[in-house]
Amino acid sequence: MADLSIATQFVHAGERRNAPAGVPASTPIYASSSFIYEQVEDIDRIVDGETSGFVYSRYGNPTVAAFEEAMAAIENGKFAFAYGSGMAAIHAALLACELTSGSVVLASKDLYGSTFELLYTVFGAFGVKTVAEDFTDIAALRAKAFEVKPAALICETLSNPLLKICDIEECSAVAREVGAKLIVDNTFATPYLCRPLDLGADFVVHSATKYLGGHADATGGVVIAKEEFDKPALLGALTLAGGVLSPWEAHSILRGIKTLGLRMEKQCSNAERLAAQLQKLPQIQDVIYPKFFEGEQGKALDAAFHGSDFGAIVTIRLREDTRETSYRFLNALNLCTRAASVGDLFTGIVHPATATHRELSPAKRAAIGITEGLIRISVGIEDVNDILADIEQALRVVEDFSRGLTQIEEVRAAAA
Ligand code: PLP
Repeated sequence: MADLSIATQFVHAGERRNAPAGVPASTPIYASSSFIYEQVEDIDRIVDGETSGFVYSRYGNPTVAAFEEAMAAIENGKFAFAYGSGMAAIHAALLACELTSGSVVLASKDLYGSTFELLYTVFGAFGVKTVAEDFTDIAALRAKAFEVKPAALICETLSNPLLKICDIEECSAVAREVGAKLIVDNTFATPYLCRPLDLGADFVVHSATKYLGGHADATGGVVIAKEEFDKPALLGALTLAGGVLSPWEAHSILRGIKTLGLRMEKQCSNAERLAAQLQKLPQIQDVIYPKFFEGEQGKALDAAFHGSDFGAIVTIRLREDTRETSYRFLNALNLCTRAASVGDLFTGIVHPATATHRELSPAKRAAIGITEGLIRISVGIEDVNDILADIEQALRVVEDFSRGLTQIEEVRAAAA
């Protein structure tokens, strides 16, 4: 180095040291877009698949690979590929179903709004037809599947925000009967509650931005596959569409996964206690929480969830079912955040009608039960008494305001 000019030293000094002798206890962030080898033939062998290794980070990166390996293990899949967001992962899983013009995708009517937008706009433009169906009604789903002969079925384990549960085993039986692939978005349940590949799904997708990462500091997605033969299609969707995950995000999400079990245990027990308490409050007309499900949805819960927990999301409907009341409630919260996400370790509360389901018309929203007074609570790991106290004080603010309005109206009426 000493015989090189200072300008050259600026570029090369200190770089490309050998890996240290000890194995790092935590996977390092390999912030490198390419990897250098002594012999160019070594690169050839890796690109040809003769030996394993990394050449260029769009085709693979050690930090990202560690995250993929972790996901394949915890979802019990053959392999996983990571993407830059949950939407990129869903896009890739759909591409891997080898849809062509005229193909039909049978989609759960309770899907996340952007997944529908992706199907209707991006895939629709290439002649793929999307048919929406109620995946909680297996007889209707089967009849529709035989009628439209889909190439792919797509649903969520636990829907947003109404927490409808899909019986994955039944849905995968329908998919097999019509020769279609089943994609399951397991973002809300996580493998802590449900492992769809064990129940017959072909692909599991996640928005890793949510529970997997869990700290609101990374955006990412992942697809986990049941069968090795789906690898080329998914790899193509990754390397050619190019929506790869960065090693920085992979590192944050990988760290998040280490505490997924602990966080879910605490978040689920907090949610269960919160749901029970919220049922007693007069300002709330309805508390939606899987523990309370009976009938078909109770059976679907038993079939899909493997543990004794019921998830970390509680959805409530305010007695005054209006947007004004919902906004007043949200704005009065002091501890619970008004974060437009879900699955973080802090409690986040959103108004689905103007957030997750904003793009639907009011009539469509009402038809699926997303009224203006519906509120989704993503329960965090805080002390549940503090969460409850914050919600109760915000509900009192709303109540005081409504009482004030009523008094003003009474005074006006008396004066008229
Ligand atoms: N799937 C579900 C169920 C979601 O709720 C979301 C986002 O909210 C996504 C996928 C998309 O994830 P991302 O925002 O990471 O693209």
